Amino acid sequence: MIDVIDLKKNFGDNEVLKGINMTINKGDIVVVIGPSGSGKSTFLRCLNCMEDPTSGKIIFEGVDIADPKVDINIHRRKMGMVFQHFNLFNNKTVIENIMLSPVLCAKKDRRKAVMHNMFHKDKLPVRPVKEIKKDAEENAHKLLERIGLEDKADVYPSTLSGGQKQRVAIVRSLAMNPEVILFDEPTSALDPEMIGEVLDVMKALAADGMTMIVVTHEMRFAREVAARTIFLADGKIEEDKPSHELFDNPESPR
Ligand code: ADP
Ligand code: MG
Repeated sequence: MIDVIDLKKNFGDNEVLKGINMTINKGDIVVVIGPSGSGKSTFLRCLNCMEDPTSGKIIFEGVDIADPKVDINIHRRKMGMVFQHFNLFNNKTVIENIMLSPVLCAKKDRRKAVMHNMFHKDKLPVRPVKEIKKDAEENAHKLLERIGLEDKADVYPSTLSGGQKQRVAIVRSLAMNPEVILFDEPTSALDPEMIGEVLDVMKALAADGMTMIVVTHEMRFAREVAARTIFLADGKIEEDKPSHELFDNPESPR
């Protein structure tokens, strides 16, 4: 699904990623561990082109999305991202947070279809905006049910606990039907008693076959859920191997 080839990223003279090579197959659950400042967040942000790589290739479903000529928006829709600090929109209700991207993208597709139909004989279907919203809303309710938060649909994120916010952020990313979800330390900002409920949602996703790349310090999650663990240090992959091997027989003393 994803082939990362010699990915490098500099910020000025700071060489943060020094040539990363990695293959992610459909259904893989890969955990990335490594000390603070080793480039884990930068790596995830390069993967979905929130940061432009300095050089290298990111082949996602056959297309090099690091190539500036490629329309990244089309591909980025298929990559969900979950952040340490949830990044929910605090001025929108829970359900509005979940509906926002699907509705925006469907409207964008609708506009494209309208434009196309003005100039071409072959007509593309144009979905009524009402229908777009109704579908997104129904789907959002289903997603909230899945995490047991259907009663929170109309509240604002500020009224939720950290664990609830992160579960909402996870289903918000699911609302786009992503091919892969990137998690950047999803439990690091949580009180200890809330970590379990978020990991449980992630485990359920893993069991459903979702492809996941997870930066985390939760070693037990890595060991139990991820077939593969990658150890990133100083912008390079130090180890990339089956989790049980990495934990039981690490090559790197670090
Ligand atoms: P990690 O997530 O492993 O803690 P990061 O990817 O956040 O590491 O950071 C790696 C290095 O890149 C750090 O030295 C950090 O200061 C630098 N860095 C990250 N983002 C930026 C940025 N937007 N501008 C400049 N330097 C950055
Ligand atoms: Mg980070």
